[in-house]
Amino acid sequence: MQYQLDNSLKLEVMEKGKGRIMEISSLIHMAGSNFAYPYDANTLHIKLKTKTNDVQEIYLIHGDPYDYREVIPLGSGMSSVWEWQHSRDRMKKVGTDGVYDFWLVELKLSHKRLRYAFLLESFGQSYLFYEGKTVLIDGKDDPRLNKPLNFFCYPYIRWNDLYRTPDWVKDTIWYQIFPERFANGDTSNDPKDAKSWKEPLESGRDHYGGDLQGVIDRLDYLSELGINGIYFTPIFHSNSNHKYDTIDYKRIDPHFGDTKTLQELVEKAHQRGIKVMLDIVFNHCGFYFDKFQDVIEKGEASAYKEWFHIKNFPVYDKKRPLTSSKKLNYETFAFTPTMPRLNTQNPEVKEYLLDIIRYWSDIAPIDGWRLDVANEVDHQFWREFRRVVKEKNPQAYIVGEVWHDASAWLMGDQFDGVMNYPLNTAIVDFFAKDTIDATQFAHEVNAINFRYPKQVNASMYNLLDSHDTARFLNQADENKGRLKLAYLFLLTQTGSPSIYYGDEVGMTGGQDPDCRRPMIWDKEEQDLELLAFMKKLIRIRKEHVVLRHKGELNFLPLPGHPDVLLYKRVENKDEYYILINRSSQKQDLQLPKEMCQERFYDLWCEMPMITTNSLELEPYGFFLIKRSV
Ligand code: CA
Repeated sequence: MQYQLDNSLKLEVMEKGKGRIMEISSLIHMAGSNFAYPYDANTLHIKLKTKTNDVQEIYLIHGDPYDYREVIPLGSGMSSVWEWQHSRDRMKKVGTDGVYDFWLVELKLSHKRLRYAFLLESFGQSYLFYEGKTVLIDGKDDPRLNKPLNFFCYPYIRWNDLYRTPDWVKDTIWYQIFPERFANGDTSNDPKDAKSWKEPLESGRDHYGGDLQGVIDRLDYLSELGINGIYFTPIFHSNSNHKYDTIDYKRIDPHFGDTKTLQELVEKAHQRGIKVMLDIVFNHCGFYFDKFQDVIEKGEASAYKEWFHIKNFPVYDKKRPLTSSKKLNYETFAFTPTMPRLNTQNPEVKEYLLDIIRYWSDIAPIDGWRLDVANEVDHQFWREFRRVVKEKNPQAYIVGEVWHDASAWLMGDQFDGVMNYPLNTAIVDFFAKDTIDATQFAHEVNAINFRYPKQVNASMYNLLDSHDTARFLNQADENKGRLKLAYLFLLTQTGSPSIYYGDEVGMTGGQDPDCRRPMIWDKEEQDLELLAFMKKLIRIRKEHVVLRHKGELNFLPLPGHPDVLLYKRVENKDEYYILINRSSQKQDLQLPKEMCQERFYDLWCEMPMITTNSLELEPYGFFLIKRSV
């Protein structure tokens, strides 16, 4: 809710002649949203946005709505007077996007109910911002601070409404595998037209024979790399190599293996502490899904005609080629005829799809589900999906494919996280393409982090690239230095970082299908220096919880150095500083005062370091250092 500037208020400030007027219409807070959410059973987070550099201090005035104390008792010759018992907590400015400043306060509550308002100090004036109104007040002792009836309300922290995300996710480093292209462990199940592994990829229809046995065979490699989660793109029966057009949801694709192979894979991965996440496609099915074929065959007489979004019958003219078209008479994913949209609002379809989750959860202890085209499926379906998944495994991870602001799915009743493409875009723009500078990058990252609850940020699926994007290296003009810096950034952020198979050995490739080339296994062709870099980076992330999720993120400005990023991760006395030079030019920096002539430990070079007032950064160089205490 935004509040329009009140003209009488503006006049009042002007009459006082105190100069700048706070932009009241820029105050943004929404009760009952991700601006006011419980972090745990006794902790509330309250957030506010103000116009950048417009407000110098903010205090949250808050208390239990029913907690009054009698200050003048009855019988004293006057009517009794009761006073609201409340506290005043300073809010912290946690970042800016250059347009808004972001403020947060964490409240530890002995009670679970809250009335609250914001006391803002702006250019010598005090304002009170409460539900529906902003007023000028006479400083911190104004009597209006004691009357909470029209303050914002957080009615009650209810335990079953708490947004719980799985604990293990924030400590997980994912490795994304496109099974058809990772490793061929069983040539007996190869598609007839499978190419040999080193033949160049030519089309989106190529097959190479990769399978689940290939992944089992390479678990040593993955353990040595240090990852502890595998995300598989779909493995269920389909004719395509990507398998996003499912024919049979209860069958492992025969080219990938069978139920036993999956069970063995999950068991062996778990023995190594590696979690397994599967991809499920409920937005649409494949053209050859038996229920859709039934509708094609029987038309209006089909028992499944309500399972899809059919515009008219007959559904499909067999003479029509299965190529992209806007003239289809059934709804599809994009304009792809091989992917008819499922009607997830139909109770029969819903039950059918949810049963698939129960089915696989009983076969193997699956740790997570990645949901394809999640934003086009109804929210009600995802609420029931969450209930079914968490009944089977309360610690299962649910991550949706949503490329844009995903707040509508991240309120606690649907997903635990989403594929963080907005972060991905910012990283590509700064580290690969130079289309934004360090300040703009910091603004974008701040805005993304402020959008969601803290527990959600810790379980976001953060990535540089995937089967749906060009590889980062390709976007960075094949510059390995930039790839390393981008992964350094990703692995020193809150959230669950992912490595797309082969990035770690220097694989490249443009948009789909080129980004899905067969994995390079030949050591002669692997970039072993890059692989060693990635292993070291993963080890450092695993050793320092502050770099994973404990530390607050603060960007520090470096005026005059648009190519240099400086940020720190802080938890109490643990302070980590990361300096990154994304350019081909050496950088001579004046360090911020807090870093001058201080003792640090260089985590990368594994040696102590004492700073002066300046620092040299090599082209594509970086420092990852921790303050010594
Ligand atoms: Ca095979």
